[in-house]
Amino acid sequence: MKIMPNRLDRGFYQYQEEFEAKAIEVLRSGWYVLGKEVERFEKEFASYLGVKHCVGVASGLDALWIAFRILGIGSGDEVIVQGNTYIASVMGITINGATPVFVEPDEYFNMDASKIEEKITEKTKAVLVVHLYGQASNMQPIADVCKRYNLRLVEDCAQSHGAKFDGKMTGTFGDIGCFSFYPSKNLGAFGDAGAIVTNDDRIAEDTRVFRNYGSEKRYYNKVVGTNSRLDEMQAGFLRIRLKYLDELAQEKKGICERYLQEMQNDKLTLPRTREGATHIWHQFVIRTEERDELIRYLEEKGIGTIIHYPVPPHLSEAYQYLNLREGSLPVTEKYANTVLSLPLYNGMTEEEQEYVIDAVNHF
Ligand SMILES: *Cc1c(COP(=O)(O)O)cnc(C)c1O
Repeated sequence: MKIMPNRLDRGFYQYQEEFEAKAIEVLRSGWYVLGKEVERFEKEFASYLGVKHCVGVASGLDALWIAFRILGIGSGDEVIVQGNTYIASVMGITINGATPVFVEPDEYFNMDASKIEEKITEKTKAVLVVHLYGQASNMQPIADVCKRYNLRLVEDCAQSHGAKFDGKMTGTFGDIGCFSFYPSKNLGAFGDAGAIVTNDDRIAEDTRVFRNYGSEKRYYNKVVGTNSRLDEMQAGFLRIRLKYLDELAQEKKGICERYLQEMQNDKLTLPRTREGATHIWHQFVIRTEERDELIRYLEEKGIGTIIHYPVPPHLSEAYQYLNLREGSLPVTEKYANTVLSLPLYNGMTEEEQEYVIDAVNHF
């Protein structure tokens, strides 16, 4: 059997007729960027999250850097972020000229809330929390420390659509929640797409203006903005997926619960979920000291895996200028050297699940 780490085509075929009908509807509408589909999606997604505003943008990275731009955080400012994240989280900070200050993760791969305070300086303006792999972070202590030090709280929800902490949706705890709808995400489009969500009227309005060349009224520009618009086709597809998001999350949860129950191998540490947090299983990430061997062994059996992520941002070539050496974030670096994502996707068959479990157990 051949099993790929992810199968985006399966997600398409699950609702093929609806996606194809929507594509034709949009093509025939004569309106393609920022229109009725975008407006409807923004309303529906805001209502799903229980937040006042959603503003569609062109990608998750755009959502992040625009968020910090709108908050006025840039050169000379510091933003606290966890070390073990996808590099886009960090670029969202540095594109504006601000400096990332890294905190180590906890055993759930999320920001260790107890290590934030020691990183706060005069220059600290915000905390960027990333709900990595689909599990909500430990939001109560994080929100508390932000409040105590008067810091902005921004959430990177690119992997956590619909995940909750203490019953509250990720993306609604802080000043701004940033979403990506890249095809591989749990709420995925068929191209690039993203959004900013907020309860703040002013932030929402500023983002709306900023994403479209800084203009409220066409050809009358208030500020130097950017082009980061969501298109009608993607918004239309996202509205369809959003209807099924909870169902799709349940399906993935079922697969992961089976993995957790049936995988038995002392060489592997299986992922755990924090009490009070929900996990929407963007990835099923295990840890092992024998990663190279496991990857090779699974490959021989036709099973593909991915490392999320092999190089932590502070050691990437792009961030050499931060002068952070190997050993400066030991937990982050240990994770980078031991994590492995096993195949997981909507539309995964029972046989495929069984095959993966069997292979892992025989390693
Ligand atoms: C995917 C991702 C992003 C970036 O989203 P794009 O839409 O690819 O720009 C940001 N942060 C995290 C944690 C992600 O997984």
